[in-house]
Amino acid sequence: MHKPHHRWSARSSMAAIRLDGKACAADLEERLKQRIVNCTIQPHLAVVIVGNDPASHVYVRNKIKSCERLGIKSSHIELPAETSQDEVVKTILALNGDDSLHGILIQSPLPSHMDEESLTDLIDPKKDVDGFHPVNLGRIVQGRLDGMIPCTPAGVMEMLRWSKVEMSGKKAVVIGRSFNVGMPQALLLAAKGADATVTIVHSRTKDAKAECLTADIVIAAVGRPEMVTSDWIKPGAVVVDVGINRIDDSTRERGWRLAGDVHPDVAEVASLLSPVPGGVGPMTVAMLMANTVTATEGQHS
Ligand code: NAP
Repeated sequence: MHKPHHRWSARSSMAAIRLDGKACAADLEERLKQRIVNCTIQPHLAVVIVGNDPASHVYVRNKIKSCERLGIKSSHIELPAETSQDEVVKTILALNGDDSLHGILIQSPLPSHMDEESLTDLIDPKKDVDGFHPVNLGRIVQGRLDGMIPCTPAGVMEMLRWSKVEMSGKKAVVIGRSFNVGMPQALLLAAKGADATVTIVHSRTKDAKAECLTADIVIAAVGRPEMVTSDWIKPGAVVVDVGINRIDDSTRERGWRLAGDVHPDVAEVASLLSPVPGGVGPMTVAMLMANTVTATEGQHS
């Protein structure tokens, strides 16, 4: 079993320790395997993908590979880009009614002619392993954290706890307020048990840098490559980089590389920094597996 090889403590002049999402995800997977063994039925996840966005296909392949590794059954439903909204509605309703499967995931983004929100509303909240249904998002506001929590912010919380980052009474800044990452992330950090004091920074914030400079913990979920630079970070702060951005890089054979929302220079001032790739990405997939197991346990206890 992987163990974090350090305890977090304030450091100011050394390079940041890597907040290793890959190792944390591997550790979580080991615990999930045990829960899967104890399930009365094999967990079963349905992944629906519409259209041919190449990045989405890579994400779906990774999710299916994780299922295989853990012994979760997966069904992959591929629909062409020109599929009508009605057809996707029928697919979701059929999956809701199928007692042999426990989790439903609609891979985002959907083609532009589709209304993603109204499709999410149709998923049975008990099978909503993305945690995007209003019932599941609403439960977070109520402090009921035992259900389907969106995978990325849940993964960030798991990683912070695994690394023994002290959150209680600390000042956290979340950059971004999307329904899938920033907003639930802020709620989870402020929830009882985590107990951070949270500020949400967004595109209308007057001085994002000044807000970040006051933070003990910064979570960047913006979608702007390397926007957060070392002069935004208080020495010793913990920094989690949620961003996944593809940027041109002529030095790479493929002509591009992945960049986070945080500049690599931040490692010079932060105490802990999650890398991209290998940070939040693997945690997101691991939390999807965790939600699938939780959904199965809830439906077959
Ligand atoms: P999103 O829906 O586009 O939201 C971005 C947020 O950033 C918005 O709230 C926006 O503010 C805010 N923002 C934009 N420009 C800003 C600026 N200059 N200053 C301050 N705030 C600014 O994106 P998302 O879905 O939350 O994703 C964010 C990033 O995380 C992306 O790079 C995405 O690829 C990545 N991501 C990674 C994972 C993973 O598994 N690692 C999962 C999901 C997403 P407004 O609300 O005012 O527009």
